[in-house]
Amino acid sequence: MSQTAKPDRTGLSLEIFPPKKEEEFDNIFSFLKETAKLHPDFISCTYGAGGSRAGKTIEIASYIQKELKIDAIAHITCVGFTREDLERNCTALQEAGVNHVLALRGDRPKDMTDEQFNKREFFYATDLVRHLKSHTALQIAGACYPEKHFEAPDMDTDLRHLKEKVEAGATSLITQMFFDNTYFYRFMDKVRSLGIEVPVHAGIMPITTAGQLGTTVSLSGSSVPKELADLIATYGENKEDMRKAGIDFAVRQIRDLKEHGVDGIHLYSMNKLKTTTEICSQI
Ligand code: FAD
Repeated sequence: MSQTAKPDRTGLSLEIFPPKKEEEFDNIFSFLKETAKLHPDFISCTYGAGGSRAGKTIEIASYIQKELKIDAIAHITCVGFTREDLERNCTALQEAGVNHVLALRGDRPKDMTDEQFNKREFFYATDLVRHLKSHTALQIAGACYPEKHFEAPDMDTDLRHLKEKVEAGATSLITQMFFDNTYFYRFMDKVRSLGIEVPVHAGIMPITTAGQLGTTVSLSGSSVPKELADLIATYGENKEDMRKAGIDFAVRQIRDLKEHGVDGIHLYSMNKLKTTTEICSQI
């Protein structure tokens, strides 16, 4: 997609992650075969914090790209990386036929000392984007935060850094998950008013179990609107009711985004086939 082209329909893309357990690894390929039938514009595959299981990300992204012929985006982080590590990783990606990455700084690994963190080779995602742009032919996406990144002192500062990331070479953006669309609309007004014109894919995470709030969601720092909190209080105890209520919430959120002309919906699939297909069939 060109940097400024406005698609004539709302795009749909998915995020998946490499299963942690070796015995679950084969399941991801059957999951992908099924989700390919939904014709997503792209599927992105996450990268373990600190670079663990990098090979798995590449293997899965390669399968998406080469076997399923769907644009694969491999997430890549740089917080613990040297230039040599990065070059090795980029070579492996390109040999595997993957030519699109989501360039991230990543979170500081727990075992990284202050000294290592302060001396890291790539300070921010923008440094990674700049390096990839000048040393590789990879297409580059970046992350953004409708409720601001947790380290940024304020939204304007975070947006100034986001603009630098796009100017360095990120040609599309994927947002952190959010549950209240008003944050996204406010964010988009600011993004566009700063002259950031690249497509922005809205990250939607269906909340299908009460436990998700305590884990994934609290890590993201995203606000939980009263409607979602009430829904969990009402249905949280009953697995299937909670799943249905969570799907319904996500579908309503997506429909509203589509009505507002969002560039794309990026569904955090959590590798859950039934939930993913049900949401896609309803939107
Ligand atoms: P950056 O863009 O570098 O921003 C980090 C902070 O630094 C921000 O507060 C920013 O304002 C600030 N900053 C930027 N430039 C400057 C500057 N020049 N001076 C001062 N401050 C600056 N993590 C994983 O480990 N694996 C994944 O697969 C993964 N996938 C993700 C997918 C998406 C869509 C998103 C939104 C996040 C993902 N993350 C993943 C989490 C991500 O690694 C963390 O949120 C991390 O803390 C920030 O990464 P970033 O690329 O957004 O960093």
